Amino acid sequence: MPKFSSRSLEIFHGTCRSLSYLGLGEVPYGDKLVYVPDFYPGEAGEISIDYKRNGQFFGSVRSLEKPSSNRIPSLCPYFGTCGGCLFQDYSYAAELQHKQRLIQNQLHRLAGVDVDVLPTLGMEEPLHYRNKIQTHFGLSSTMKPTLGFYRQGSHEVISISDCRIQDQRAKPILETVLQLVSELRIPVYREEKKQGYLRHFLIRTSWKKEEILAVLVTKQKDFPYKTEFVSRFRAALPQVTTLVQSIRKQDDNVILGDQEEILYGPGYIEDELCGLTFRISAKSFYQTNPLMTEVLYQTAISFADLTGEEVVLDAYSGIGTIGLLAAKHAKKVLSVESVPEAVKDAKENAERNGIHHFEEVVDDATHYLQQMAARKALLDVLFMDPPRKGSTPEFLEAAKQLRPKRIIYVSCGPSSLARDIKLLLDIYQIEMVQPVDLFPRTEHVETVVLLQLKV
Ligand code: SAH
Repeated sequence: MPKFSSRSLEIFHGTCRSLSYLGLGEVPYGDKLVYVPDFYPGEAGEISIDYKRNGQFFGSVRSLEKPSSNRIPSLCPYFGTCGGCLFQDYSYAAELQHKQRLIQNQLHRLAGVDVDVLPTLGMEEPLHYRNKIQTHFGLSSTMKPTLGFYRQGSHEVISISDCRIQDQRAKPILETVLQLVSELRIPVYREEKKQGYLRHFLIRTSWKKEEILAVLVTKQKDFPYKTEFVSRFRAALPQVTTLVQSIRKQDDNVILGDQEEILYGPGYIEDELCGLTFRISAKSFYQTNPLMTEVLYQTAISFADLTGEEVVLDAYSGIGTIGLLAAKHAKKVLSVESVPEAVKDAKENAERNGIHHFEEVVDDATHYLQQMAARKALLDVLFMDPPRKGSTPEFLEAAKQLRPKRIIYVSCGPSSLARDIKLLLDIYQIEMVQPVDLFPRTEHVETVVLLQLKV
């Protein structure tokens, strides 16, 4: 096999063997594996190796010689330029199968178990599902303001208002904001110069109600023509029921700031899921695909098999969604979440849904569970839905001491899921693994796992 360094360009004929965790084609080359975007299993072509990062080789397709029968024409004009999604040119059925296999592989590799993973539950049409749209301000090469998504692998902003996965209500809002910013000549924030004001613009749409929350993220509280901007925004976009300003002073990649000002409206929107009403504020976590979130929650609740007699804990609970849904079928529901704004929403949500046997605490989930274990608290069913990086060994250890008869692990990170499950397998066994596709046309997938206490 020819030698190559990180700089030299190597060209070879390769065949895609499988898709990686991140949705890249895996192409064997000698004893190496080259990761190639937009190259699907079974496809063959001329591949160039473009760079090496962290010991791994990344390439691109120079010419596709044998396309897969799963390849379809992409209908998105930005596909390949914008880094927002993958798989726009891959059949959705094949994407769902890939996600099922991926979870199976991670469980095998990282937890050492071979279990049957159920087929991924997906959307009928994987379109316009995203209720949270996160855009950035930038400048074009002619120094005109832009608003949209980052170009793949960079912080260059491409103006995109039309997107196949976002809620269609976002398009006119993004267009109006860009027009206002251009007309009023409000300087956008420039990372490299540390100058300007406007950083990001977020939209959250309610699925079931005619409500939209918009968040303008700025470098500082005041910016030129602020009053004018707000009044023209409000007049032009009556569908946006509340506008919040978030102030992020630090120069980093975090989007939302610590300081918030409600520019008009209540500062939150409401939505309905599985028959309950939820209040969502700018900082609270809320799943981004409402239709499939219902499927996810229904799966989690059915796995719990509640009879009305159980004490349930919803750990990493966000605005309390899973816990509040479980409350209908449980004796008592405890929930723990680390973001105070989300807990405030959860308390409000319990109140407005008339659910009183529900207790929500602001705490680190590990700390909370350790305390429960120390006082030998009673726990029948544990729901856990940690962020992508997963939970902690200490959390899992405390869970084992509490010995709930069922653990329902909801995860958006198949690797951390498998790593965490491994630590439970001495006293729990995997009963069901159900992938649910909340993120069509991206590499991400949710999984619900039912773990049963061994007798
Ligand atoms: N179950 C909720 C939220 C899941 S997202 C839903 O379906 O909407 C994961 C949540 O974990 C987020 O709300 C995040 O704020 C919270 N979180 C992250 N780290 C945490 C920690 N160490 N302790 C408690 N909550 C945490």
